[in-house]
Amino acid sequence: MKRILITGAAGFLGSHLCDRFIKEGFHVIGMDNLLTGSLDNIKHLFPLKEFEYYHHDVSKFVHVPGELDYILHFASPASPIDYLKMPIQTLKVGALGTHNLLGLAKAKNARILVASTSEVYGDPLIHPQKEDYWGNVNPVGPRGVYDEAKRFLEAITMAYHNFHGVETRIIRIFNTYGPRMRVNDGRALPAFFSQAIRGEGITVFGDGSQTRSFCYVADLVEGIYRLLMSDHHMPVNIGNPDEITIKEVAEEVVKLVGNPDAKITYKPLPKDDPKVRQPDITKAREILGWEPTVSREEGLKITMEYFKEVVKV
Ligand code: UDP
Repeated sequence: MKRILITGAAGFLGSHLCDRFIKEGFHVIGMDNLLTGSLDNIKHLFPLKEFEYYHHDVSKFVHVPGELDYILHFASPASPIDYLKMPIQTLKVGALGTHNLLGLAKAKNARILVASTSEVYGDPLIHPQKEDYWGNVNPVGPRGVYDEAKRFLEAITMAYHNFHGVETRIIRIFNTYGPRMRVNDGRALPAFFSQAIRGEGITVFGDGSQTRSFCYVADLVEGIYRLLMSDHHMPVNIGNPDEITIKEVAEEVVKLVGNPDAKITYKPLPKDDPKVRQPDITKAREILGWEPTVSREEGLKITMEYFKEVVKV
């Protein structure tokens, strides 16, 4: 049985990855310090003998007994309000945490895939974003703690690949949504769904003309699985190129939920909020034979069902 360590296991993406690798017949070791994750996301796995959970902050030395074949490093605050509240932890997990996990990968002779982000492109001047674009990041702005930690993550991962010959994979994740997103994590879709369900004002920031491209979580997980199993060590964008303005996506959520009390309201645009974002996924198509298969219409419906269950009205 192959053994895989998944950091950030109790988070949105980490928990879906635990499910997927259990399904693929792996022994999964989930690690989290529950800074932003929740055991509710993985409690269904606790009875399984193929699953182990370690409560640990990967910014500190990581010890895992026994052999390891793979590591997925997904631990990090990932929402703008979270990394504004926890700037030092965000920098530490991206930098020190990644260093510890690369060291572990080297010691165990394991292949490691690290979670990078479309935020490495900052407020992009090239559209859509291709992997060879270097980005437009403000290092001292509010998003700098996340963006620069992830840029360091990429740099140190390449260094371990080039200098130590560690088998590394780097995924650049674009906006992803689906069940198990935290209700109050502040990101657009959890905010819009919870506000629409409660019949509150929908908080569109700025005039809502900024764009994002939303990928359903099952598509992302498939992309991660294929990248891990591939032999490609350079960064690969995984996301859904179906781009939409934030105002339009807010309108879609309002229509779907159908609560007459939910009306769009406008709030100030946060500093350095990227104006556009859309992945160029040519590389993922060519190298991994991957592309998204779940439409926003379909994905939003499944996500609404989840939020209807967990949002307290
Ligand atoms: N946004 C919004 N209202 C909210 C939360 C977010 O209008 O309540 C906007 C935010 O300003 C950004 C977009 O939605 O332009 C996506 O924000 P999110 O926090 O989901 O992720 P980002 O892509 O900015 O990292």
